[in-house]
Amino acid sequence: MHLLRQPEEKIRTFSNALLNARNQVGQCKKCFHLTAKEECEICSNHSRSNGLLCVVADSKDLLALERTREYKGVYHVLGGLISPMDGIGPELLNISSLIKRVTDEEINEVILALTPSVEGDTTSLYLGKLLKVFVKVTRIAYGLPVGSELEYADEVTLTRALEGRRILE
Ligand SMILES: [Zn+2]
Repeated sequence: MHLLRQPEEKIRTFSNALLNARNQVGQCKKCFHLTAKEECEICSNHSRSNGLLCVVADSKDLLALERTREYKGVYHVLGGLISPMDGIGPELLNISSLIKRVTDEEINEVILALTPSVEGDTTSLYLGKLLKVFVKVTRIAYGLPVGSELEYADEVTLTRALEGRRILE
């Protein structure tokens, strides 16, 4: 309603800015986080390569974890979760690039930060099986209510979830 009451010129400027943002924002070639550059700010920050790689479903979850300011490693954005009901199989997610990173980069631990839901559990199990031959795989657990979206969890809960991560059996 507020927008509709603005002068036409103002709305035009606003919609052009939106369109520009949409056209400029792409995906980081390394981690698939949203960025206007080839490589996102996290991947190009060398102090962040400390052996930890955190796997998230999408950029919203990455941003939620960044808000905790506790995690100092890098990320890998899957682009969704495995969901046979919706026809989303592992081949539609950024998984082969994840395996490549785990084997090419110096990664000591992969932290699976996926929503505690059927899809999140399925994806974690799948990734755990694939990755634990190469690297230690943990999953955040503590304090996250089942079925809750990661992006809506508060910073304290997320920090505890990160600290309480467990090795995936
Ligand atoms: Zn990146």
